[in-house]
Amino acid sequence: METVVSGIRPTGLLHLGNYFGALRNFIKMQEEANCFFFIADYHSLTTHPKGSELNTNIKNVLIDYLAAGLDPDKATLYVQSDVPETTELYLLLNMIAYLGELERCVSFKDKARKQPDNVNAGLLTYPVLQAADVLLHHADKVPVGKDQQQHLEMARDFAQRFNHIYETEYFKLPVAYNFGNELVKIPGLDGSLKMSKSDNESSCVYLSDPPETIRKKVMKAVSDSGPTEPNQEKPQAIENLFQLMKAVSAPETLNFFDEQYNTCQIRYGDMKKQLAADIIAFTEPIYARILELRSNPDYLSRVAQRGAEKARESASKTVREVREIIGVRSL
Ligand code: ADP
Repeated sequence: METVVSGIRPTGLLHLGNYFGALRNFIKMQEEANCFFFIADYHSLTTHPKGSELNTNIKNVLIDYLAAGLDPDKATLYVQSDVPETTELYLLLNMIAYLGELERCVSFKDKARKQPDNVNAGLLTYPVLQAADVLLHHADKVPVGKDQQQHLEMARDFAQRFNHIYETEYFKLPVAYNFGNELVKIPGLDGSLKMSKSDNESSCVYLSDPPETIRKKVMKAVSDSGPTEPNQEKPQAIENLFQLMKAVSAPETLNFFDEQYNTCQIRYGDMKKQLAADIIAFTEPIYARILELRSNPDYLSRVAQRGAEKARESASKTVREVREIIGVRSL
């Protein structure tokens, strides 16, 4: 059976980008693979160094995971910092990760530009920690959005380098994966290319947004005064509305508005109303479960504890074997 590993950082609530880029695949894959899905709280510290909100965020992501359909009887759901073996593998992999390749990483350059006062070593070695997460459980597949593709390639590089240096076939080379499809990127409501809580809050529709909030956000989404010529190329913000519609609406709905656009008859108010209704139809059942789970903290603790125990079994075996392969031994 294949092993699947992936995680999401608890820097806020989960949005539609997280769902369609990652979570949707987690839910499908738990049916057919040995899955480990974690909440990447160590990763959050690279951009959100204070733990004060971390606990709330961890709890919210666990709630979103469960409400969206992850099943702790099928997949191992855990909090990254509950599995300290992650940090030992991270340290050991740091010894074979080169400064040059880490500095060239697009997301590092991007983050360094966004937080010039806090270009910490954790930010630089973020892909190494991510490699530790997936190699810890010998992942075959890692369901992620398109933005994470480079990190996954680096995880493969580290795995291959480890195997080469220590003359072993120990680590499998994991692949970035989207169930039956190419990797997806969900755009923002504000005209931005990627819906992202870290870049632009106003771009996001959260799974835990009440229906009225969703309606307001979608009606306020960036658009323009409409096409003036038939079959005109769509400007980014308009393309975004169509992309979102493609994710949540029926194909006929998408075709209808596409046709309206191409014949210059489109009314964005109508399109947004339909889009809001379709997003709400999709999130409403998730939202109802979120409200239920919020009132059940004992259940959440039990899920996290059980997940940590299962994840540590697999992780401690890997770390023991890696120590052995490298030759790290006690006297
Ligand atoms: P954010 O960018 O909001 O801070 P994360 O970096 O924590 O989110 O992403 C967690 C997971 O969700 C990753 O697998 C990432 O690829 C996926 N993801 C995030 N935003 C999007 C998006 N807009 N489209 C597709 N996948 C996304």
